[in-house]
Parts: sequence; C-alpha cells; structure tokens
Amino acid sequence: MDVTKLTIKQLMDAMDAGELSSAEATRATLDRIKECEDLGAYVTVCEKEAMAAAERADKARAEGRRAPLLGVPVAVKDNICTEGVRTTCASRFLENYVPPYDAFVVKKLKEAGAVIVGKTNMDEFAMGSGSEYSAFYRVRNAIDPERVAGGSSGGSACAVASGQAFAALGSDTGGSIRQPASFNGATGLKPTYSAVSRNGLVAFASSLDQIGPIARTADDCRRVYNVIKGHDAGDSTSYAGDLDMGEHITSLKGRRIGIAKEFFPDALGGKVREAVEKAIKFYEDGGAEIVETSIGSFDMALACYYIISSAEASSNLSRYDGVKYGRRAEGCKTIDDVYYKSRTQFFGAEVKRRMMLGNFVLSSGYYDAFYLRASKARTLIKRDFEAALSDCDALICPTAPTTAYKSGSNAEDPAAAYLGDVFTVPVNIAGLPALSVKCGEDSDGLPIGMQLIGRQYCEETLLSLAEIYEKGAAK
Ligand code: GLN
Repeated sequence: MDVTKLTIKQLMDAMDAGELSSAEATRATLDRIKECEDLGAYVTVCEKEAMAAAERADKARAEGRRAPLLGVPVAVKDNICTEGVRTTCASRFLENYVPPYDAFVVKKLKEAGAVIVGKTNMDEFAMGSGSEYSAFYRVRNAIDPERVAGGSSGGSACAVASGQAFAALGSDTGGSIRQPASFNGATGLKPTYSAVSRNGLVAFASSLDQIGPIARTADDCRRVYNVIKGHDAGDSTSYAGDLDMGEHITSLKGRRIGIAKEFFPDALGGKVREAVEKAIKFYEDGGAEIVETSIGSFDMALACYYIISSAEASSNLSRYDGVKYGRRAEGCKTIDDVYYKSRTQFFGAEVKRRMMLGNFVLSSGYYDAFYLRASKARTLIKRDFEAALSDCDALICPTAPTTAYKSGSNAEDPAAAYLGDVFTVPVNIAGLPALSVKCGEDSDGLPIGMQLIGRQYCEETLLSLAEIYEKGAAK
C-alpha cells in the first residue's frame, strides 16, 4: 500500500483500525517531500514539528480521542500565518518573517488534530497564475514537470497531486485554488466570501480573498472545509449566520444545472470543451435538467477583477516599508532611502506591476474611469449570477480555458496569463462558492477541470454534486 496516495477517509479508517499510525503516514509524507524536491512545492518543511504532532495524535487516538483530522498530514500555503514557522508569501520582503501567531484556519486545523508538514510555494503575494513568480524557485506541474503548476496556490495543488500532503490550504482571490487544482488533477473548493476567516491570511485583495482546501476528492475537501469554516470575530467580514445552506444531494433527479452561453466561447479549446460537455452529459443522463442561462456581464469580469484586485493590492502592500513591515535594505541614509531601496529590492516584477496598476486606477483623474466603473460592473456581475442561480442548483463551466502550459510561455506577455483567469474571477467578484474537479485529460494526458458554481453558503451542494461525478463518471 502506498500510504501517500490514500484519501483522508482511507487514512482515517486505517488509523482508526490500528493498521497505520499517524507517525508512519507523516514519515511517508516527509519522505515523499524529499523525493519530490525538484517539483518545488514547498518553501519550508516542518519535519520536527510534524513528527511531534503525529506522535501526539497517535497518543490521543490510543487514549480513545477522536477529531476530524486527527493525525492527517496537511500543508498550508505560505501566505497563511503559522506561529513560529516562517511565512514568506514567496517574497524576498518576508523571507525572514516568523509570525508570532497562528491564522484562524491554522488554529482550527491544529484543534482538529491535523499534522502540518510544511508551507507551500506560490506566486509572490498570490499574484499570478503559474507559480512561476515565486521569489525562490518555481513550482512544477505534478503530471508534467516541464509545465506550470498553476497559481497562485501551485505548491498546494502540486503537493496534493504528488503525494506530498493529503490536503492543503490555498487562497483564492481570482482562481488561485481552482486553477492549480485543475492543472494538477486535484479537487479544490473556493468557499463563499466570508465563510472562512481571513484572520492571519496575508492580504492581497481583501474584498476577494478566501482560504479553502485542495485535496484528492470532494469528500476530502469537505472534511477540511468543515474544520476551517466558521465565524471569527478577528475578521470583520466573517459571517455569523448559517453557513450550511447547501443540500447534500444524493440523486440527480429533478436537479437543475445551469449552463450560461458565455461559458463556451468560440475560442475555447476543443479538448477542454469536449471534456466539460461530457461531464454535463453525465449529469443529464443521471436525471438532472440542463438549463440554458446567461451571465450578460460575464465579459466585464476580467477587467473588473484586475482593476479591483490591483487597487486593493496597492493599498494592502503599502505597509511593506522596511520600517515596521518586511525586510530593510542595507546602506540607507534617509527614510526615503529605506522605502525606496527596500521596495525596489524586495518586491518582484509582477507585484510591482500590480501596485503600479492599482495606484493608477485609484489616482484622481482616473478613479471614475476605472475604479468606479469596475465597482459598478461588480454589482451587475453579482446580480447576473444571483439571477442565474435563483433557478438552478449549480452552474457548470470549464475551470480554465487551457490545460497546464509550458513554463515560461507567458514570460514576454504577462497579460496573456490574465486571460487564463476568465472563468474563475467572476466567481470571486460575485462572492460565490465554486469547486474545481477533474473531468478529463487532453491528448498529452494533462488534467482538465470543470467548475461548479453555487449559491452563497451552498458549498455542500457543490461538494455532493462533485462527489456524484467522481463516483459515477469514468474519467
Ligand atoms: N491569477 C489571478 C491573479 O493573478 C488570481 C490570483 C489569486 O487568486 N490569488 O491575480
């Protein structure tokens, strides 16, 4: 039995039956991390802490205690704070930052008995779609190392797909959980905005950022999601109401799946189109009704996202000044020097691009033309999704227009990578939950993901629809 390939459920069952200990599973995971070092999935591996946590979990289990993730090795994206463990955001600026506290979600993981094996690599400050913008080294795709892992949670997705963790936390501002999950053949859930606390997540675009799980199955995502969700007074946008508005669907009969015509543009690649259409047919054959619908404002979403997210990023990242936050450049004589040199030396090119774009769209004279218009477009996009979803259980579309591309192919044209976010960003703008699950492969054997989008706080509807697919479809 290759322990590192088990699902969380299989691992929990084996540990409960006494066939396997958490120490063994954690050891196997750490060995696998060493074997896979070239994939670049981790920034920091917490070997000692992980083995100690695994032993504590084994002891607790032996004493008859149980917890939802007791003894399960998991990874955490490196923009989520971990007490005493370096949290770099894959940036030179935070290269030596060791948080004095755990993020809300990390506390929750620990309370649930999870064993944190390490911090995963990513695009610097979560800005990117390929995990090529890490200041340290890029993440490679778990299926084909010459290709990108997707981003920005590329390390989390690669780790899960290559047996270097049973599940991993990612963050998703415009697709960063779903797109890398899709590129590596994993399952990823971006929860409803406000369902999971952002307390301890290093901010990129605060009105869009959400933490969520990447795992091997929808059921594994559910297990992690149920642990990390919930109200937290430490995040002013955290929702205190009912987070369980979804349904656990077991039969497709009478269910309604919406397909917006904008989801299948003419330019969409043949293989991706074919795989997603086949998955839709699976739901139809199972008894679901396929409903044609429309998101009229869909083509505004990409521009709207890059304006709003960059505007918020320029504000959030202004705190890294080399004085209170982040590393300080050497040899500075004046305070201006400190700001200028530190920010010049320690931010990467993509992060600088976003901050300049953000400052531009917020500047007087351009504010009305860009930021204000994007805010209005955001309202329209939200309304269109609400209308489309009022009449169906979920919408289905591709997660990304292509499969994983060769590393370096967007180096000359950063905007080309932005286009790859066309299906994921509208969901963040609307604040809705969405899940990516593998629905096929292209002719090179690279995974294709489909995206299920649901109503606010209806994560369970998406998870159970994905589960029906995973169990029923021959992939
Ligand atoms: N690819 C998108 C971007 O570069 C999304 C990133 C994210 O979700 N963190 O902004």
